[in-house]
Amino acid sequence: MNLRRLGKTGLTVSELGFGAIPIIRLDTAEAIKVLRRAYERGITFYDTANAYRDSEDKIGQAFQGMRDKVVIATKTGLRDGKGALAHLENSLRMLRTDYIDLYQLHQVSQDRDWEALTAPGGAMEVLVKAQEQGKIRHIGVTSHNRQMALKLVRTGHFSTIQFPFNFIEDAAKDDLFPAARALDLGILAMKPFAGGMIDNAALAFKFLRQHPDVLAIPGYDSVQSVDQIVSFYDSPNMVTDDDLVAMDRYRQELGMQFCRRCEYCQPCPHGVMITPAMGYQVLAKRMDPPVAVEFLRRPMETVPNCVACGACVKKCPYDLPIPEMLKKHYDMWERHRIETGR
Ligand code: SF4
Ligand code: SF4
Repeated sequence: MNLRRLGKTGLTVSELGFGAIPIIRLDTAEAIKVLRRAYERGITFYDTANAYRDSEDKIGQAFQGMRDKVVIATKTGLRDGKGALAHLENSLRMLRTDYIDLYQLHQVSQDRDWEALTAPGGAMEVLVKAQEQGKIRHIGVTSHNRQMALKLVRTGHFSTIQFPFNFIEDAAKDDLFPAARALDLGILAMKPFAGGMIDNAALAFKFLRQHPDVLAIPGYDSVQSVDQIVSFYDSPNMVTDDDLVAMDRYRQELGMQFCRRCEYCQPCPHGVMITPAMGYQVLAKRMDPPVAVEFLRRPMETVPNCVACGACVKKCPYDLPIPEMLKKHYDMWERHRIETGR
């Protein structure tokens, strides 16, 4: 595994990172196995968050006694100082450490987030103090909104920026990443599979490896998934004309208005299972309608409960018109259901 410098943090990290969301669903023993396998295969950068439930505890257990061998990044989604400090103290405890290498403000996608973070008594104040005390080595930020991310990069407050990046959502390479590079920020790429929409891992990493200073942090849910993804980094990278055609096919199929399955919009107060229902169209193409109709029956049957209250829309970082999109997916499901007699 090659090593890289993570921007002005000066940290040396593996060229491939570890995103901790999938280890939430593993039991602790299995999660530790996966984390240790990743370390054995050369991965030294681990990204988690207060929001990723017990993943900090699992990382803390996996790397107890070898803290200096790994670089740990975590996050708080709180905007007020008191809450952010409580999250930080909890992360230190769960991770069994007295310092966090990179502490990130989680999903800062709106101006009102930034205003709250920088207000007197806001989280920024507390994090800067924690950095002076050595509890945090570097401060970073994550966002799903490119204009906001550009603003955040330019504030000069951060050492890293974490943003979605994959061959479907690649706009960051034209403005956000050059701006980050100019200020020597480390760049972290979340959502290498576009929230599950890219089901060809080899193709996903062929694209990502074209951007060697962008640290991809895919999630892993098994020892096999670690071995598979690491194997992509074992050989020189080649993107063929056929690969480019295949990437284009995905782009055309999805367009830009698609659900990334981040689940920030949930729960719906009316019981709509938003995330699975938003994936019906793609699933129907991949699985064939008769299978897809049955596979998503339960979530699709919740869609008529939607009263278009808009609560989910306010929480979606991609500004998706969720009620309209749900209706389109539902109409398609209903048509397929009738056509296939199910
Ligand atoms: S708009 Fe519909 S899906 Fe969204 S929160 Fe309201 S009821 Fe639920
Ligand atoms: S609708 Fe938006 S917030 Fe909800 S899962 Fe999809 S991308 Fe995320």
